[in-house]
Amino acid sequence: MSRIRKIGVFTSGGDAPGMNACIRAVVRTSVFMGLEVVGIRKGYQGMLDSDFWDMDARSVGNIIHLGGTILKTARCLEFQTNEGTEKAFKNLKTKGIDALVAIGGDGTARGAERLSSRFEIPVICIPGTIDNDLYGSDFTLGFDTATNTVIEAIDKIRDTAASHNRLFFVEVMGRDSGCIALRSGIAGGAEAVLLPERETEIDELIEKLSMDAKNKKTSSIVIVAEGDKSGGAYHLAKLVTEKFDFYDVKVTILGHLQRGGSPSSFDRVLASRLGYAAVKGLLSGENRQMVGLRGNSVVMTPLFEALNNTQFKLEKDLMEMVSVLSI
Ligand code: ADP
Repeated sequence: MSRIRKIGVFTSGGDAPGMNACIRAVVRTSVFMGLEVVGIRKGYQGMLDSDFWDMDARSVGNIIHLGGTILKTARCLEFQTNEGTEKAFKNLKTKGIDALVAIGGDGTARGAERLSSRFEIPVICIPGTIDNDLYGSDFTLGFDTATNTVIEAIDKIRDTAASHNRLFFVEVMGRDSGCIALRSGIAGGAEAVLLPERETEIDELIEKLSMDAKNKKTSSIVIVAEGDKSGGAYHLAKLVTEKFDFYDVKVTILGHLQRGGSPSSFDRVLASRLGYAAVKGLLSGENRQMVGLRGNSVVMTPLFEALNNTQFKLEKDLMEMVSVLSI
């Protein structure tokens, strides 16, 4: 028999579409299992402020389709101090919370590991970040939706690019991770994809664009991840314009619109599976785990393993394909 009676759930760090569907799954699975469930608003900040919400099955009605997070999210430096972590734990205990489900990125998981290992409170983390940069899950919550948002934008940009012989540099999110750039580049039919994980050779890019022009291409789209080391979309556009005058060069920075919007069916199902598995995992005695999806199976990975692995997540076949499919 589990001694867990009351579960706390929170979202933290960067928001991602699918977080609401995940909160819903955690709350409803908990209620179904006869547990009490407390929403903690604004992540670790809410623990420090005792910003708690006693939730029931109806608290999460009509949210499965909403982007963002009804529990709000925040970044909280105070929690990272010894005093802050202790205060958070004391507030959780005062509220009677005896286990946690944390939904967020790697910072959130690091915080959860710290809290759990210092104060023996069981915790399961659910990877929620549009960047898809966590080990332990093939996909993170929000990545599929964000990529779909990028593709929608690329499709629109393509219309104007094709009408004017334009070369567009489209900058997408991903400071350290090229996952959004690569997937959206393939799905959007981009001529090149520039990633933080790989050096950008400007000369190679110009040669590729010149070849395309010789091959009677009249417009091109280059996807640039924001963490690309060569200086970002505006800088690249300037360099290319200086050496290459065939196209009218334009830049679009997609920015925060990539974080919003209604989650895709993939993200809603992923969120539901991981939220459900997290509660069941806690009840069966799992602790300090990252619950994720690998090869369409829900699996647990110890947090220390998930956080100490820098998995190269970019699919090699997709990287090779970009230039082949855009001849
Ligand atoms: P994400 O979860 O999206 O990666 P952050 O990196 O901003 O977002 O982390 C979210 C919050 O998690 C931070 O504001 C902080 O409160 C907490 N956190 C991050 N890293 C650590 C750490 N090493 N130790 C304790 N808490 C951390």
